[in-house]
Amino acid sequence: MLRLLIHGGFFSESDQTHEVKVAKQNSLKEIAKKSFEFLKSHSAEETVVFAVSLLEDDPLFNAGIGSQIQSDGKIRMSASLMNGENQKFSGVINIENVKNPIEVAKVLMKEDDRVLGGDGAKVYATENGFQDFSTEIPQRRKEYEEKLKNGGKGTVGCVALDKDGKLAAATSTGGKGFEIVGRISDSATVAGNYANSFCAVSCTGVGEDIVSNATATKIVTRVTDGMSIENSFEKTFSELKEIDGFAGAIGVDRNGNVFHQDSHPKMVFASFDGERMEVFE
Ligand code: ASP
Repeated sequence: MLRLLIHGGFFSESDQTHEVKVAKQNSLKEIAKKSFEFLKSHSAEETVVFAVSLLEDDPLFNAGIGSQIQSDGKIRMSASLMNGENQKFSGVINIENVKNPIEVAKVLMKEDDRVLGGDGAKVYATENGFQDFSTEIPQRRKEYEEKLKNGGKGTVGCVALDKDGKLAAATSTGGKGFEIVGRISDSATVAGNYANSFCAVSCTGVGEDIVSNATATKIVTRVTDGMSIENSFEKTFSELKEIDGFAGAIGVDRNGNVFHQDSHPKMVFASFDGERMEVFE
């Protein structure tokens, strides 16, 4: 039983056109199908990295190419990976000028030190063969110059259950846009990306709310303690409501149950099990 869910942040009817919506739906469908094919012969960990790399390469989403620009005009990206089976977490925080931050997180899995920030993350990436690459696109520069903050929530993520029953989660972001230099996103923390042998969850939304709510960690812990994935999401999102939090999450448990929820319409997501494709509308 293979399962795969991906997300690409949020879609806003008021800020984005119908064409953008259709483009995002089509891209998610294609990436979900390709990643599902990949999952047939690879582990959950390998697959979530594969899927998130494809999402990072698509300028429609706010991760990798097409990332948001921060208040000083620079792009700093964050990404993390968690293997549910061996409980290893790796991540990069505020890395500059690499094409695929999630690939750097993947290489970091072999180190004792597994979360690197800022300049150190970039030095490590360079030492490990990652070339200098600008992920800026003209649209983001235009938004930055106009000081528009719309369309900011567009983190990408993937959760997967592989043929050996193993789970993994990966998440990658360009951040909120216009943030104070040094701000840390939830995406490379266990609040935004968490997995164990029971459940895997990836989040998008306002990082500060996701950290306050410890969203991914709570959902996974609840499933581990015996709650259904559906009830675990619902309880965690009801707690998020108490702080008027803005978030969305995708999850899969070890029995192949998948679930997704958002606090505000509409999270951009797709879910594929080899037969049934579900895409946000
Ligand atoms: N969670 C990301 C952050 O706060 C933003 C997003 O999901 O789009 O950096």
